[in-house]
Amino acid sequence: MSRYSIWTIGCQMNKAESQWIASYLNSAGHHEVKSPREADLVVLNTCVVRQSAEDKVLGMLGQLKGLKKEHPDMHVLVTGCFVNSHVEDLNKRFPHVDFFFKPGAYSDFISWAKKQGVQVNESRQLSVDSFQTIPLVSSPCAYVPVIQGCNNFCSFCIVPYRRGKEVSLPVEEVVGEAEELVSQGIKEITLLGQNVDSYGHDLPGHPDLADLLYRLSEIAGLSRIRFLTNHPKDMSRKLIEAVVSLDKVCKYLELPVQSGDDDILKAMKRGYTIEQYRELVRAVRERLPQASLSTDVIVGFPGETEEQFEHTFSLLKEIRFDVVHVAAYSPRSGTLAWRKYEDSVPRDVKKERLKKVEQLQASVAGEINSGYMGKEVEVLVEGNKKGKWYGRTEGNKLVFFPDAADYSGKLVKVNVEKTSPWALQGKYV
Ligand code: SF4
Repeated sequence: MSRYSIWTIGCQMNKAESQWIASYLNSAGHHEVKSPREADLVVLNTCVVRQSAEDKVLGMLGQLKGLKKEHPDMHVLVTGCFVNSHVEDLNKRFPHVDFFFKPGAYSDFISWAKKQGVQVNESRQLSVDSFQTIPLVSSPCAYVPVIQGCNNFCSFCIVPYRRGKEVSLPVEEVVGEAEELVSQGIKEITLLGQNVDSYGHDLPGHPDLADLLYRLSEIAGLSRIRFLTNHPKDMSRKLIEAVVSLDKVCKYLELPVQSGDDDILKAMKRGYTIEQYRELVRAVRERLPQASLSTDVIVGFPGETEEQFEHTFSLLKEIRFDVVHVAAYSPRSGTLAWRKYEDSVPRDVKKERLKKVEQLQASVAGEINSGYMGKEVEVLVEGNKKGKWYGRTEGNKLVFFPDAADYSGKLVKVNVEKTSPWALQGKYV
């Protein structure tokens, strides 16, 4: 038995994969510790989607180099999108790392562990790499990867190069995973895919995400289903209708727009125009007027003029998303944008645009959330922080409420008494 520590940054897919590694190691008799300093086995689950993320990975690798000198027996493993196809180069650059394995390549991880004499769980069979979930976590929510990889090649994105082409997990296997999770106490699952709307096109009979949602909704004991991330060009009307008609599917949609300007969208190779995006939002709001919407935006894409940025800014004002994840463009080596365009927008201009979007969004989200004042919301309780229970509504609003009783994992009603752009606070009803 050994002590392990997992450091994770990046998207929900990484979090799901770290959950799996932790669950696997626990089932093999190891136990998790908080700090790598106390661990015999350290796993870094990395992200390189932005330069700042890659810098964090390099920083961690630097720290571990020092730690490994103090504890030469410690094993250091690296997975996630930092692991490219040039593992030999990585081995040369980071000789203190014992093993690099590609995102979701669990069987490689287990073979390595066996060779090193690290205790493994022989009874946990892997049928398809990358899709193993079954975490028994204290939260009632779990991620279930249903499609890996991406065929889109947006010009700024490194994901298709690191995670490869789309591969879907068959419907019955997803259902099996979800049933197993529910039997372990999970009440909410989030189906994950870099482009979850593409689910199933590579499977026999071509089931789609809507078909999967209908099937999962039949599982007794499962209260909520979410899915992310959507691609506006691939989100079908059939899927919207499935969300309308299935009570268990949360009325919350992530629709990354990335830019509000057609020329920038074209350079990003997003595959839709702003008018098409507006049309999609109109269709969603017509059928799901109560749905919460979130989006992703990149400011400072190469060549983005003030006017083009203003197009994005006014689109955000017009649509009024519940949540906007905004990032300043940073070139990722290997991507089309990195090869083709100069990173021409100065850093301070990017920062200014980022701040403008953040300020706008704080005011929009503040106004939207104030509409919940005095209302009763249903919350799935995820945990307790400093004496307050917290969880999320169907629309993904974070809610806090103080109460002495134990509400872990329960669906409760809360009366909202205070709101902010980021959360709601209230009283248990
Ligand atoms: S859809 Fe575009 S942004 Fe999303 S993972 Fe695929 S290439 Fe990247």
